[in-house]
Parts: sequence; structure tokens; C-alpha cells
Amino acid sequence: MIAPASDPPAPNPAVPNLLAPNLLAPNLLAQHLARRIAASGPLTLAEFMAEALLHPDHGYYTTREPFGTQGDFTTAPEISQMFGELLGLCLAQAWVDQGCPPAFVLAELGPGRGTLMADLLRATRRVPGFHAAAQLYLVEASPRLRARQRAALGNHPADWAADLRDLPDGPLFLVANEFFDALPIRQFLRDPAGWRERLLGLQDGRLAFGWGAPLPLAALQDRLADTIPGDMVETCAPAQGIAGQIGARIAARGGLALLIDYGGWRSLGDTFQALSAHRFTDPLAAPGQADLTAHVDFEALARAADPARCHMATQGAFLLALGVAQRSAALARRLTGVALDRHLAASYRLTAPTEMGSLFKVLALTRATDPAPPGF
Ligand code: SAH
Repeated sequence: MIAPASDPPAPNPAVPNLLAPNLLAPNLLAQHLARRIAASGPLTLAEFMAEALLHPDHGYYTTREPFGTQGDFTTAPEISQMFGELLGLCLAQAWVDQGCPPAFVLAELGPGRGTLMADLLRATRRVPGFHAAAQLYLVEASPRLRARQRAALGNHPADWAADLRDLPDGPLFLVANEFFDALPIRQFLRDPAGWRERLLGLQDGRLAFGWGAPLPLAALQDRLADTIPGDMVETCAPAQGIAGQIGARIAARGGLALLIDYGGWRSLGDTFQALSAHRFTDPLAAPGQADLTAHVDFEALARAADPARCHMATQGAFLLALGVAQRSAALARRLTGVALDRHLAASYRLTAPTEMGSLFKVLALTRATDPAPPGF
């Protein structure tokens, strides 16, 4: 999720935070994790993230309302309707450029409140044949968020799936915004003896991070040449698995995937973060009550998506190439006062290099024989 603009406040160990939720009420997820560790040993960071985000009773996405000013973070579709509109028109133009296949799967991974898809559908309503050919699928793990998405889409026909593999066959036109950053990562620290994995264990009965015994250097063979002792590397097997499925489907059946997230080309360094009420927080302070994310390694996604063709741009360059400035000016003509100020600030936030414009990247996947999608 979007990191706050300022650095995290330095913790002051002398002043206990009396409002920390785990001091007010027992954290049931922390207790569950402690029991699990006591019974079967330390957890990987990926196991911790999966429990903290999606535990059926105590997980972050299954129990909380994370989005917006009242929540923990804000995402691009919640900042401006232009984001979903332009993504929709990009998909629709690619559909036309690929010869208007008469039946295709329109999918979103991790749709949150459903805002992006609602904007996308509204913007593409007048593209002849697009809605009639589309079978809409939303891939969402949280039952609570599925209900939010249903409400956002009104009576537009849609189906929900827990897994990309459950989607029907056919060309695939897909969007995923800030989905991959929520998938569980593992962290490995290189030291002279090998790679040490970051593990969650117990110290004096409380959850605490530590380091596992060294694994052979060959365990991350492809990262030996570009790392030195002291470097940290993050891996995300679920992200690679999902990118692999999307790439294989698009290479075989055509379509376009737009994968948008913050991150870079090849993971290096510790990017794991917990966010609560728009501030960085200790991920172990109250498991299940803070958003946990890591930067997305786009090189790993691109490799996994082979043989689909990859196109890459920063979010700012992509939106500007799609005409965000013109769309913004058109919307601005109808606004005055505070609403106009907010709209202009939102346009700036989506595209400026110092805001979301450079940190966020767009990875597009197409069949090698199809034209480059609009915006690249
Ligand atoms: N795309 C939205 C929301 C991003 S938050 C936006 O831009 O506002 C991440 C979303 O992914 C949430 O909807 C969350 O419930 C969902 N999610 C997280 N892990 C998932 C998983 N493993 N499978 C399916 N959905 C998942």
C-alpha cells in the first residue's frame, strides 16, 4: 500500500504506548500464532503474512475496512475515478486491436472495495460489443470484501473466484492494482556462511523475529552474482505462480493483463512493512490489525509470465500516455472550489514522480504477436 510521505516516527522505548491494541485486549491471532509456533516451530515470514492478512476469523482483509481516509491506506482507484476509467479504456482498446474476440474473461485480482471495476465498467459502456462479450470474474479471498464489491457493481453480472485457476477458458483481459504487494514473501539475508531466513519465533513467550540456520548459498543461486554478505533478498512464490498462470493463458488465448504495484526490477533489501492508520507500525504489535505488504519484484513476475510478452512503464508515464491530463481537464471544467482543488491534487498524486508516478510500475502482458497495448 502507499507508504506515508514522511519517514516512520522513531519508536521511543521509554514511553509505552498505552493505547496499543494488544495491551487493551488480548490479540487472538497473536495467541493462535504463539500456540502454532510452540507446537511446530518457527514460522516463515510468508506463513506469518498469510495468517495476519487472511486468517478466516482474525485476518486483516477478512475483518477490517482498510481503505480510505478512515482506514489504513489509500489506493489509486480510491484517489480518482480516472484511474479505473483509463485502465478500462486501455483494456477495451486492446480488445479492439486484437479483433474484438466475441467472448472473453474480464477479471480483476484483489478488487478491494470494487471501485476500480465500477469505474472501468462505466468508462467502457459505450465501446460497442465490449460488455456483451465480457464474462466478469473477481478474484477475491475475503468474503467481507466480496460483499463490498457486489454492492459497488450494482446489478452488473459478475462471478467471484478464490483462485485464477477457477476462471473459464478464453482470452483474458485482467487488471490487478496493489494485489501482488499483499502476497506473502520470504526474506533471506546473505552472510558468509549462507542465506539466513527471517523467521517468527517466541522469545519469553512473545512473538519475535529472528534468523534461521544458514542455508547453502546454492539455495538462491541466481542471486549470488549481484549480492554480497549483508544483502537481503525477498522472494514471493505465490506472485510468481499467479504471474505464470496469467502469462500462460495470455500466450495461448490472447488478451492483456495490467499489473500495477509499487516495487522495482529485482528485489534487493528489506521492503516488508506494516501500515496502520496511514502510519508505519510494528508488524507484531497487533497481528491482523495492520496492513502488511512488500515491494513487488517485477523482474520475477516478468520471468514467470514467459512466454507472454512484457511491457513496462511507470504509472505516471502510463497514465499520461493514456490521456490522463485531457481527462483531468475535462472533469475540472465541471468543478469549483474545494472539489476542484481535490481533483487537481488527485491528478498530481497519481502521476507526479515524487508521489505515485515513479514508485508505482505497470507491467503489461500480451501475446508476443499482438500489438503493444495503449500506454506503452
Ligand atoms: N485493488 C484494490 C485493493 C487492493 S488491497 C485497490 O486498488 O483499491 C488487496 C486486495 O487483494 C484486497 O481486496 C484483498 O482482500 C485481496 N487479496 C489479498 N490476498 C489475496 C489472495 N491471496 N487471493 C485473493 N485476494 C487477495
